[in-house]
Amino acid sequence: MASIEGTLRQGIPAHLLKGQKALVTGANSGIGLATAVAMGRAGADVVVNYVVGKEEAEKVVEQIRAFGVRAEAYQADVSDEDQVVAMTNRMVEEFGTIDILVANAGMQRDASFTEMTLAQWQKVLDVNLTGQFLCAREATKEFLRRGVVPEVSRAAGKIICMSSVHQLIPWAGHVNYAASKGGVQMMMETLAQELAPKKIRVNAIAPGAIKTPINRSAWETPEAQNDLLRLIPYGRVGEPDDIAAAAVGLASDLMDYVVGATLYVDGGMTLFPGFATGG
Ligand code: NAP
Repeated sequence: MASIEGTLRQGIPAHLLKGQKALVTGANSGIGLATAVAMGRAGADVVVNYVVGKEEAEKVVEQIRAFGVRAEAYQADVSDEDQVVAMTNRMVEEFGTIDILVANAGMQRDASFTEMTLAQWQKVLDVNLTGQFLCAREATKEFLRRGVVPEVSRAAGKIICMSSVHQLIPWAGHVNYAASKGGVQMMMETLAQELAPKKIRVNAIAPGAIKTPINRSAWETPEAQNDLLRLIPYGRVGEPDDIAAAAVGLASDLMDYVVGATLYVDGGMTLFPGFATGG
């Protein structure tokens, strides 16, 4: 999968996540790539998870190492329990622990409702929802084992679930995707409630339209981009760095009191822009 250029965030304080170990799933492309790089820029050691694109993952690792932190690429299909367990065990072995999980890996398999196959439905639920469940469960076991280390962070661990504006906005032709993100919202809030007493912070980011390979057809041509901009009050399509900045902030102690929240990073897409001139 192609990677997006220009992911170095100049504005991120270099020590915000110093000494922390971050696992970013689906980190060889798009939002995950930008987030992994931004975490490294903020001083974290980073595991760059991917499933197919090894070469792209290795390039991301090189970008992150340039900040003087540790980075490694780990292959694992987030929807496969054995592979997720092996990935998190390996991270604990090689990096010592896990402080931050960004459960970002995701995909679309679009079809109109009656054309959608069970395989398309199942695949998207498996990767987008079950994948986040498995990664969150295994990371949480490590957070609980280690507990709070005050010199590193006020929390025992931080989980950031990558959701979507489609946890709120229905999306015709994408019922599998919208259902997966609706599931992510309730999973995130339930985990946040269950784990907060253990000093584990679980939150989500709900991106709007961000320029990545997953939605290339929505922004690639000027006509498509104009259609898209009608849905975005702020008047620009989002960049992966917009999400990466939110992820670094949510993972840091600056946001230590943010628990069970979904941060919409969408240029106002969820503000029902059609009502600005009607309704
Ligand atoms: P992307 O560029 O297509 O990246 C998807 C990433 O997920 C790739 O790194 C891919 O790895 C990985 N992946 C897919 N299946 C996997 C699996 N089974 N196990 C492990 N990794 C897997 O898409 P993106 O836009 O950055 O999307 C990232 C997340 O943001 C997704 O959860 C998506 O739903 C969410 N999101 C995106 C937008 C947007 O506008 N772009 C909006 C809202 C939400 P390989 O390359 O190795 O397959």
